Amino acid sequence: MRVVVARSIDAALAALASATEASRILAGGTDLCVEFESGRTRPDLVVEVGRVAELRFVRETQAGLEIGAGSTCADLLRSAPVARGADLLALAAREVGAVQIQNRATLGGNLVTASPAADLVPALFALGARVRLASLAGRRELLVEEFVTGYRATARRPDELVESVVIPPRPAGEHRAFHKVGTRRAQSISKVVVALALGPRGAGARIAAGSVAERTLRLATLEAALARGLARERLAQAVAHAVALDTRPRDDVRSTARYRRAVLERVLVRVLGPWLEPEGNAA
Ligand SMILES: Cc1cc2nc3c(=O)[nH]c(=O)nc-3n(C[C@H](O)[C@H](O)[C@H](O)COP(=O)(O)OP(=O)(O)OC[C@H]3O[C@@H](n4cnc5c(N)ncnc54)[C@H](O)[C@@H]3O)c2cc1C
Repeated sequence: MRVVVARSIDAALAALASATEASRILAGGTDLCVEFESGRTRPDLVVEVGRVAELRFVRETQAGLEIGAGSTCADLLRSAPVARGADLLALAAREVGAVQIQNRATLGGNLVTASPAADLVPALFALGARVRLASLAGRRELLVEEFVTGYRATARRPDELVESVVIPPRPAGEHRAFHKVGTRRAQSISKVVVALALGPRGAGARIAAGSVAERTLRLATLEAALARGLARERLAQAVAHAVALDTRPRDDVRSTARYRRAVLERVLVRVLGPWLEPEGNAA
């Protein structure tokens, strides 16, 4: 195994030019070291980017809030621009592991692992984030839903580095919420995780859920019902319909499919209910 310790984005891209499907980028190592330990991953090349300062930033731009892939959960929690322009990410970062993990775990690592149970990924879905990728061949940008393609699978090519994500400016009057359910209140992997953003009268709803399918997904059926002007009294029924249609939970070591469906329904009703108009006032 070849190990390259990169000190700049250029050095990382140069090393990644010869990367294969088996190669890995090492950031905080909180996912990758577990894979090394279990023998699940035996890379031919490891490019260490944990000391690349250029990947660790938060800046407000015309396109929105740009956050470097090397930003840690602790960085997200400390950042005033993140609190202003991507509060869902800060709420999610607070739920990742314990303080020790938050000090190492990066945004890029959470996104590229693409675990269905990841906490930052649903927040990125709800915020309509775009993912910026770089390689020696050039740069490209993908919507986060296009980037996460399946169970721990992404659209990233082996030679590409995730440089940053861009969160578009939040519309006025938007409601946002993040809710995670695990075995304990702290330090547990999610059984169900929800992040959502909703405009007045349900306009532009983006509702993302994790741990209820092989990948993070959006609840398109519920989003469409909200856009049509869903009354509060009809919410529970619409949620049950959407959860049945849009999710594909499984039984696994953490939970059962039945429990995940029931809890997702309850979380959605509880979180969305206060924002909906009663019958007669709904559009
Ligand atoms: C004890 C423990 C508790 C945890 N609890 C949670 C939790 O509650 N919620 C949660 O969501 N996660 C949790 N995790 C998982 C993990 O901490 C997160 O997914 C974390 O964000 C991964 O980031 P990292 O920097 O450590 O990634 P790494 O382990 O360094 O890398 C992860 C993957 O991303 C790739 N990668 C990293 N950076 C880049 C980049 N810039 N460009 C391209 N590819 C890249 C790597 O090649 C690798 O495939 C936990 C892990 C542990 C060990």
